[in-house]
Amino acid sequence: MADTYKCPKCNGSGYLSCYAGIANGICFSCAGAGVKVGKAPVPGVKWAIFGIDRNTGERARLYNVTAKSEKAAVNKAQGTWANASAAFKDQYSLATAFAVKWSELEIAA
Ligand SMILES: [Zn+2]
Repeated sequence: MADTYKCPKCNGSGYLSCYAGIANGICFSCAGAGVKVGKAPVPGVKWAIFGIDRNTGERARLYNVTAKSEKAAVNKAQGTWANASAAFKDQYSLATAFAVKWSELEIAA
């Protein structure tokens, strides 16, 4: 038997009221079945990305990203950093960046 999971688009109802005027509101994601075949996608975790403030040498919380793993979170932040302004890159380094889950930050706080 194939795996199925509740359609995240319509929350299992098979119907999207916001699309009532289009195809009678039948969910286009699951075709009105309310379930999708396959493995449920793993929801992303929210991460805080810490880099270094070059002026002070101290850790600085630079980004918030959603990703499935710490490595993916840091990669994502480095992609954002690469497109940041020169002034920002001069001040902050992500060379030794790490990510901390929001849920863990809240426990620490
Ligand atoms: Zn659906």
